[in-house]
Amino acid sequence: SEAQRSRAPVQRLADVVSGYFVPTVVLVAVTAFVIWLLLGSLASAVVAAVSVLIIACPCALGLATPMSVMVGTGHGARNGILIRNAESLERLEKVTTVVLDKTGTLTVGKPQVLAFKAFAGVGFSDDLLLRTAASLEKYSEHPIAAAITNAAIGISLQLLKVDDFKSHTGFGVSGTIDGVSYWLGKPEIPGDDVSELQKSGQTVVELRKDDKPIGYISVADALKPMAKETIAALRSQNVEVVIMTGDNENTTRFIAGQLGISRYYAGLLPGDKALKIKELQQAGQIVAMAGDGVNDAPALVQADVGIAMATGTEIAIQNAGITLLKGDLQALVKAFKLSKATMSNIRQNLFFAFVYNLIGVPIAAGVLFPVFGLLLSPMLASLAMTFSSVSVITNALRLRSVKL
Ligand code: ADP
Ligand code: MG
Repeated sequence: SEAQRSRAPVQRLADVVSGYFVPTVVLVAVTAFVIWLLLGSLASAVVAAVSVLIIACPCALGLATPMSVMVGTGHGARNGILIRNAESLERLEKVTTVVLDKTGTLTVGKPQVLAFKAFAGVGFSDDLLLRTAASLEKYSEHPIAAAITNAAIGISLQLLKVDDFKSHTGFGVSGTIDGVSYWLGKPEIPGDDVSELQKSGQTVVELRKDDKPIGYISVADALKPMAKETIAALRSQNVEVVIMTGDNENTTRFIAGQLGISRYYAGLLPGDKALKIKELQQAGQIVAMAGDGVNDAPALVQADVGIAMATGTEIAIQNAGITLLKGDLQALVKAFKLSKATMSNIRQNLFFAFVYNLIGVPIAAGVLFPVFGLLLSPMLASLAMTFSSVSVITNALRLRSVKL
């Protein structure tokens, strides 16, 4: 309902026009009255002046934008696209670059633990490593966290009590267990085996005890079923696709390769994502950003159009103008189509409304009288006025049948 009440910027055009419209119409009515009076007919003067005022009632102009926005957002909702504000719907049409987050946006966001390994000579078994990591992750909202806790619970490891839990968005998590401080997150200096895992598309996190590496856990997340097709579809509409992720270079290169995307930025912190988007904007791009995580929120705000996955975090959804239900990537392509359809519908409506007044007002004033002897009665003028609104509404309703 917020979207349906919000104003699309294009409506400003209608508002500006309305500002000139009223005085102009009054002027036309007065002029018609005076001319008819000078021609010697008080009756015709009144009829013409009243007809002008009635036929020019700017209902159609006022309805043109909000009707299309209302029907468009409704149609979007039925197709899994929740639009929070009309501005996003309007801007999407002009987008030239789509930035996609990796984890949870291109990938399903339900990673699985593939391996966990303690380094030799650190006094940790593989199981204890996983158990410690899972205990820390219990408090994190990150998809990796769920993977690690589920893996530990899956092999019946009891979680340990954690104090001072901290989430370092874009880096990892930390906390103390039995007075010893632990850190779990991005590997500081990835060893050879870690690099190898990353190059096969896995994300590797490292457990550190008092800043000393203890071992690593690797997780892999499947690509969303239609990810590749979606990217191809976006490309075919001349939209450039870029990946921005906090994950490391190796993993990202692998995923980007699978999707056929050549532009990617890896190892970004949340602020970096927003900064990179700003750079794209300064280079003249109009940017849509799709993301799901806490780390995507600043970028969603910075982008011209922010798109959140409904499967993602609340903070991402709150900061996006559009939300895709069930995190369905294909809905992204549908959203583009919806934006184009809605905007051209609005333009048709405004055109109807303008042209109608352009034709109707002079006829009501009696310009056809000298040639055809035609003077519109106020009754017919009001019928015509109503009809213009009906035509705008009917045209807007056509949006419901647009194939997305
Ligand atoms: P993305 O942009 O792909 O969604 P993030 O910015 O959320 O990734 O995270 C970047 C990296 O930081 C992850 O690949 C991981 O190495 C590390 N990380 C972040 N949060 C956690 C966590 N809760 N547990 C472990 N590692 C984490
Ligand atoms: Mg993410």
